[in-house]
Amino acid sequence: MKKTLLLLVSIFACIHFSFAQKYQYTVDLKNIQDDKLSVTLLTPKVTSKKVIFSLPKIIPGTYAISDYGNFITELVALNEKGKKLPVRQINVNQWEISKSKKLAKITYTVEDIFDTDKSHNIYPMAATNIEVNKNVVINSPGVFGYLEEKGKLPFEVTFSKPENFYASSSRIPTVTNTTTDVFHLSDLDDLYDTPIMYGVADTTSVKVGNCDVLISVYSPNQLIHAKEIAGWLTSLLQGAKKYLGGKLPTDRYAFLYYFKDPMEKQSFKPGLAGALEHTTSSFYYLPELPPDQLKSFIVDVSSHEFFHIITPLTIASKEVKAFNYNTPILSEHLWLYEGSTEYTAHHVQVKSGINTEQEFLDKLSKKIADAESKYNDTLAFTQLSKYAATTYAEQYGNVYQKGALIAACLDIYLLHLSDGGYGFKNLTHDLGVRFGKQRYFEDDQLFDEIEKLSYPEIKQFLVKYVQGTTPIPYDYYFGLAGIKYQASGERKLVPDSGAGKKALMVQKAWLKAD
Ligand SMILES: [Zn+2]
Repeated sequence: MKKTLLLLVSIFACIHFSFAQKYQYTVDLKNIQDDKLSVTLLTPKVTSKKVIFSLPKIIPGTYAISDYGNFITELVALNEKGKKLPVRQINVNQWEISKSKKLAKITYTVEDIFDTDKSHNIYPMAATNIEVNKNVVINSPGVFGYLEEKGKLPFEVTFSKPENFYASSSRIPTVTNTTTDVFHLSDLDDLYDTPIMYGVADTTSVKVGNCDVLISVYSPNQLIHAKEIAGWLTSLLQGAKKYLGGKLPTDRYAFLYYFKDPMEKQSFKPGLAGALEHTTSSFYYLPELPPDQLKSFIVDVSSHEFFHIITPLTIASKEVKAFNYNTPILSEHLWLYEGSTEYTAHHVQVKSGINTEQEFLDKLSKKIADAESKYNDTLAFTQLSKYAATTYAEQYGNVYQKGALIAACLDIYLLHLSDGGYGFKNLTHDLGVRFGKQRYFEDDQLFDEIEKLSYPEIKQFLVKYVQGTTPIPYDYYFGLAGIKYQASGERKLVPDSGAGKKALMVQKAWLKAD
């Protein structure tokens, strides 16, 4: 009897112990004052005498220093009895808590970023908004912190909310009623990968093949509606499904759009807009304009964010997948993560008939013009990438220009070498199979891995034009697909009427609808 009882007790203790090993956050969306949120964290058990509580310095996908700690104030650490523990802020993002074996609770206040007076370097699509009764954007790195060495523990986040507020996210709350939502996130990466937009719902859902797609819109002057965007995105996603071989890479996806009223105060550089990718969602900060002025931009940028599922959210190096939130360590391969995503976002549109061939070529022509006139064309792209958050921050924009052109040339070159049978999307598909979501490559292995899946010539291209400093001879590579590049006067890519048989075959494989 005794033994059994002991066993029961130890099982109970064990369950209790593992139950306690999670973060339990509570956020009050009902009592917002001065665009500030009160956050309470019941901490997991700490066994060291001191522990560091951090907000991120940098997050995946932004390639810039964010310093979210700037927006945290009144941080207090408490023991079980509610007695304060010593806290010392050691830098903008980190607080050292002493006597941390007794730590039970941390409370603090979060100020929003969209309209702050503080100067900062955070992109709007990675920022927070806290506007009472209207809209709350939970870009989670701006709201939630973590304890050092405890990033792998699960997070439970409870929001108490006004009755008319709806949570838009790719994650479904495990508990939801008119006043409360509870979300469970498997670890810190999952938490920071899951934005939630709260507000009066303008949402719609569409089903594309295997994927349930949520479209959520905040348009303060009701200029643009979720249903309208859903119409545009449905043909894009149908095209994406076909492009990717008949199946979308996720069963659930959320597009979250925040449209900025041009009359409202904001803290970003004038004209700054953009979007940020996540594994099963993307968040957009865009100007609130009449829909006809926004349509093609929204389709292009939504396509870009969606295709990030492939790169880098499936195929990436250690720097991306084992992400360090407090020390910027970037990968050399932004040409793959941003460049090839940008290329694919447009290529899918010509392959599915949303764009004509000439519209697609015009987009690429503009990228050549921008890459050559606005950026340093002899800077090694791997170096630009590695130091995109620091030394080469000014060159970062070239990942969307030359980065996309690198992918375009690789696509044509692969089709040329394989007689139209194996293009860039086949290569990324095979890299995805090789590495999958859970594994990563080492930066310096990538070109060898690509060579193994394709041709030695492809590795030579990457070594010369991506790792090296030689500008890409666009006329040569586009010429392989029977496309002429007029480098003088109006820079333009046009079909070459004198193209040979092989070039025309490559052109067909490259541009014609599947
Ligand atoms: Zn991107």
